[in-house]
Amino acid sequence: MQPLSLPPRLLMGPGPINCYPRVLSAMSTQLVGQYDPTMTSYMNEVMALYRRVFNTQNQQTFLIDGTSRAGIEAALVSCLEPGDKVLIPIFGRFGHLLAEIAERADAEVHTIEVPWGEVFDPQQIEDAIKKVQPKLLAIVQGDTSTTMFQPLEELGDICRAHDVLFYTDATASIGGNPLEVDAWKIDAVSVGLQKCLGGPSGSAPITLNDRFVSCVRKRAHVEAGIRDAHHHGSSGMRIRSNYFDLPMIMDYWGDERLNHHTEAATMLFGSRECAIQLLNEGQDAVLKRHQLAGNAMLQGVLAMGLMPFGNLKHKMNNVVGVHIPVNVDGEKIRHDLLAIFNIEIGTSFGPLKGKVWRIGTMGYNARQDAVLHTLQSLETVLRRAGFGLPAGAAVDAAMAVYSGEV
Ligand SMILES: *Cc1c(COP(=O)(O)O)cnc(C)c1O
Repeated sequence: MQPLSLPPRLLMGPGPINCYPRVLSAMSTQLVGQYDPTMTSYMNEVMALYRRVFNTQNQQTFLIDGTSRAGIEAALVSCLEPGDKVLIPIFGRFGHLLAEIAERADAEVHTIEVPWGEVFDPQQIEDAIKKVQPKLLAIVQGDTSTTMFQPLEELGDICRAHDVLFYTDATASIGGNPLEVDAWKIDAVSVGLQKCLGGPSGSAPITLNDRFVSCVRKRAHVEAGIRDAHHHGSSGMRIRSNYFDLPMIMDYWGDERLNHHTEAATMLFGSRECAIQLLNEGQDAVLKRHQLAGNAMLQGVLAMGLMPFGNLKHKMNNVVGVHIPVNVDGEKIRHDLLAIFNIEIGTSFGPLKGKVWRIGTMGYNARQDAVLHTLQSLETVLRRAGFGLPAGAAVDAAMAVYSGEV
């Protein structure tokens, strides 16, 4: 057997992306015991770091072990009891995921939809809240399936006015786009590392405010022999997952350190590094870097004569959808990019499958050289496939963005 040997890909799809080198190094650190004081102090440090990443004072800010959907599932199954009403505005694939998870929790799921490529007006959401009177509003902030970015800043006040809890999945957007958890009055947010935070998938940072915590604490839970069923005193139904039982996970991360799962220490080391990378470079600087890379990619795509997907006014900074031109075999282009240039771009799901490529500029890869390599390579494979385009125009257009000419 040979040691691991993977090609040096440049991952320019909608995630995962190449990790920041410091994240990879941290993840090869030797372990200590789960309750070793150095380990628990790093857990506390990670909580403090992610409060800054989320722009929140929430004490309950920690990691759910698992990919991003572990964070989604923890929030939804811990909050929603069977029969509880949840409103889910859907503008892409991940909205459907929220709905599916809520359905499995036996919640009464109400959805509203806009066409892919658009986002909701806050008024549409308020109207639906008035009609449905849900316990929870659950919505995605940035949906990589459509590249769209849902404005959230007005939804917090709407939710408070109607006594509705407000959860968002900000996995795709955090780091590359604004997210103000406290200022926007979001009660619970979960994310993942593998987009603009520049880490691998496998850890889901989450933050919960007091409103959300008191909702999940009301749910009784038992762990045979260790806890009594009314430990947190509730008439509610027990949370239907042990692994994603937020009160248990909070007690494990809290001062009591009540045993739950074995912390995924290696992922914690990686998560810590992702947060430090963001905070050291500065949230504003990282945001600007994503804006610049995203804009350069967009201008390059336009200069090639390709058409971007969706309402560009609401495009996330970190990913662009590109209509596959007629008479071009989209999968052949992706194959050639990978085989010849070691560059991966994304395909699409659902209604966009076979019609749209998705090109990401996220985290470590939100860099000028990565953008230029991708544009030049895409231009070359398109030209070789017989798609006529002006040689060099894409790179020139992207460089003009970087030199501040547009
Ligand atoms: C990419 C993405 C995820 C990823 O979920 P995983 O469980 O890590 O695969 C979740 N939510 C959104 C909105 C995403 O764009």
